[in-house]
Amino acid sequence: MATTDVRPQQLADEAIALVRRWLAEAAQVPADPSAERLAGLLRDPNGLDFAVGFVDGVVRPEDLNVAAKRLSELTSLTPKFLPGYMRGGMTLGGALAKPLSGVVVPVARRVLRELVSHLIIDASDSKLGPAIAKIKRDGVSLNINLLGEAILGKAEAERRIEGTHKLLARDDVGYVSIKVSSTVAPHNHWAFDEAVVEIEQHLLPLFERAAAASPRKFINLDMEEYKDLDLTLAVFTKILDRPEFLNLEAGIVLQAYLPDALSAMMRLQKWSAARVARGGAPIKVRVVKGANLPMELVEATVHGWEAATWGSKQESDTGYKAVLDYALHPERVKNVRIGVAGHNLFDVALAWLLAKARGLRAASSSRCCSAWRRGRRRPCGARSAVCCSTCRSCTRRSSTLQSLT
Ligand SMILES: Cc1cc2nc3c(=O)[nH]c(=O)nc-3n(C[C@H](O)[C@H](O)[C@H](O)COP(=O)(O)OP(=O)(O)OC[C@H]3O[C@@H](n4cnc5c(N)ncnc54)[C@H](O)[C@@H]3O)c2cc1C
Repeated sequence: MATTDVRPQQLADEAIALVRRWLAEAAQVPADPSAERLAGLLRDPNGLDFAVGFVDGVVRPEDLNVAAKRLSELTSLTPKFLPGYMRGGMTLGGALAKPLSGVVVPVARRVLRELVSHLIIDASDSKLGPAIAKIKRDGVSLNINLLGEAILGKAEAERRIEGTHKLLARDDVGYVSIKVSSTVAPHNHWAFDEAVVEIEQHLLPLFERAAAASPRKFINLDMEEYKDLDLTLAVFTKILDRPEFLNLEAGIVLQAYLPDALSAMMRLQKWSAARVARGGAPIKVRVVKGANLPMELVEATVHGWEAATWGSKQESDTGYKAVLDYALHPERVKNVRIGVAGHNLFDVALAWLLAKARGLRAASSSRCCSAWRRGRRRPCGARSAVCCSTCRSCTRRSSTLQSLT
């Protein structure tokens, strides 16, 4: 029988058994060959250095000679796992890259694109529609996020907003994610109130478009740097407090590797409960651990500050469970629905079981997504207050989309 007294620690063994079951089921599904190749590449001791070096040194540089030089340097790191023709190609490409950079570099980039083609969708008009249709064939609902480099100026911010408008205008897109830091040029952190107003003005047309659509569309504010946490919360609540958006459902992300996550969740709960009491729609919070740890550590070191994040992986893991323990409660999910996003199947399973044990499945409206492992996907449930999702990509590249199943 469902009871709110159940605590996460009581479900540990059941979570392990559930993950074993998912993995056994997933093993029956043929894996995508590109996904297998990428997983093998990352298992190689040199795999990560090779992949990161390739993206940063060969794909990103505009100058072909710079890319060619880096390509030839990377030859010695070529992972043994890659098929013979690819390793041969790397050796040959490395040798010819400098004299024939105009030919070799584009070919090398194309090969890499094939390797990650199952992760990234090309956002160009001709490729996007068929790619979305293909993913949706499996009954998957998509949250689409326009990727790109950090925003450094007004023109780039406007392009990103315009790109998101184009996505929302499509009939086959019902859910988009965007970070506040990609909607405006870098702002002065001392002028907090001014930044909130400026970002609100930039985001309002997107929310108006989402609210005017039929059916309504969903906008999620992603979270990246700690310094944007309060700003994102302020923008999110200010927009949704406008009377015209009272019934609009929207989402925001909280990063549990921040000690501030639990109190932020409590603030959102209190604010959303008041909105729901006024007849408003609930909001959704996607709980993640946080993907910006290296940058937070660099910021802390450069300024001589304490890092904004918890001090260890275990503390972040515990913080994640503490946030879920608080949020996954029948009274609270009426105001704040929870998205559980991560690659750690044990946490996804634990959240799933906790929600079930506390009787939340019936109180919900969102669809559970997929458990994803090395290119294998299996549905992990039906309708629930918890939306569990694992990510098909966190790779960043301009003009590409991240698809979250
Ligand atoms: C669908 C989806 C959406 C996502 N959206 C976002 C988003 O909007 N914003 C965002 O930031 N991330 C986002 N992420 C990424 C997420 O935050 C995690 O980085 C990623 O999923 C890995 O964490 P995990 O729990 O899956 O894996 P695990 O391997 O269990 O945990 C790894 C995480 O633990 C934490 N950690 C590791 N070492 C330390 C340490 N020494 N000290 C403190 N903490 C540590 C870090 O957060 C690290 O990412 C998303 C992921 C998915 C799947």
